[in-house]
This record gives sequence, C-alpha cells and structure tokens, in this order.
Amino acid sequence: MSRVLVGVKRVIDYAVKIRVKPDKSGVVTDGVKHSMNPFDEIAVEEAVRMKEKKIASEIIAVSCGPSQAQETLRTALAMGADRAIHVEVAGKEYETLQPLHVAKILAKLSQDEKADIVIVGKQAIDDDSNQTAQMTAALLDWPQGTFASKVEKTDAGLTVTREIDGGLEVIKTKLPAVLSADLRLNEPRYATLPNIMVKFIY
Ligand code: AMP
Repeated sequence: MSRVLVGVKRVIDYAVKIRVKPDKSGVVTDGVKHSMNPFDEIAVEEAVRMKEKKIASEIIAVSCGPSQAQETLRTALAMGADRAIHVEVAGKEYETLQPLHVAKILAKLSQDEKADIVIVGKQAIDDDSNQTAQMTAALLDWPQGTFASKVEKTDAGLTVTREIDGGLEVIKTKLPAVLSADLRLNEPRYATLPNIMVKFIY
C-alpha cells in the first residue's frame, strides 16, 4: 500500500471579490476569508478515496505558509488525512515563496516520509502558477500525471486520465509518482465542523 503526501495551500476563498491595496503592492488579505485551495480539496479527496479502496495506507497533508496554514491542515485532517505537517513560512519570506521553493519542500518531505504518491492541485487559485507538481516530479525524478481527471491503480502502478487541450489522454505511470488534481477528478466531501474541532496537529 502507498503512503500519500498531499500539498494543501491556504488561499483567499474563491468566492471573495479580490481588492487591490491602495498602494498597488498586492491584494488585501487582512480580514478576508481564506480557505483551502479548491484543487487541493480535490487532491485530499482523491487521497482519502485511495485509502478507502485500500490503495493508500496513510495520508500526510503538508502546508507551507504562516501560522494560519494550520486551519487548512485541520480541514485536511477533518476530510480524512492522517497526519499534517506545517512548514512555517511567514512575513516577507511567504510573500516571495515561489512554486520552486514549495516543490523543493514537497520533494524533501516525500523522501523523508517515504511517500509513494504525491498529489497536489493543478494550480493554486491565487497565483495560478501551475508549476509545483511538475517541478516536484522533476526534482524527485519521478513520473508525473498532471491534470488528472481519473486515477486507477494497476499492478504496475497507476493509469491516469489527463485533461488536455484536445480532450483526454490516458497514460500509465510506475510508482512512486506525482499527480496533480483537475476539476473533474472527484467531488470533495465536506469537512464537518466537529471533525475540524476534534482533530489536532502533531
Ligand atoms: P501552483 O504551482 O502554485 O499553482 O500550485 C499547485 C499546487 O501545489 C497547489 O494546488 C497545492 O497543492 C501545491 N502548493 C502550492 N503552494 C503550496 C503551499 N504553500 N503549501 C502547500 N502546497 C502548496
């Protein structure tokens, strides 16, 4: 069975109307509702389904960000992740955190935690970079199945259906591998409030 590492980013909630700061140095974040990046909810849901199908043995959620990133990790735990790792990146360092930095962190943690599958969202809706999965796979020298809309376990590894410009592409990968979750991969379950409250972070 596989150990799955999932990247979860805290972003401004998708329903919030974004306001630019008066000095145009960035967007207003103070007092603004934040949530787990929607594609990361899909990534966590896929990991939980893998665990339910006995493909995965353990799910580790990782978030790089300020102390409030712990709220996002609590949501991942409430959805079914087993453990959470908060990599604290705050202030100016967080403002300049790039996908390559996150990819290096995820790659190192995947090795330390002996993960077999890394799942991230196809993109974070704040910066829309769509780079972390690809860079993580390159750093680890693992195969990648990006923009996944279906993932099936096979004896040899995984069969991944990918959303590409012309339609769907089906690829086969060995494990370990990196996946990125696209919109149609699944419909994430709700993290209930009692579940969020009872879970705590190691
Ligand atoms: P990006 O390449 O920035 O569009 O992000 C793609 C995916 O990488 C996101 O959907 C997350 O799963 C993961 N990711 C990006 N930034 C972070 C972060 N700060 N902490 C944890 N995961 C992240």
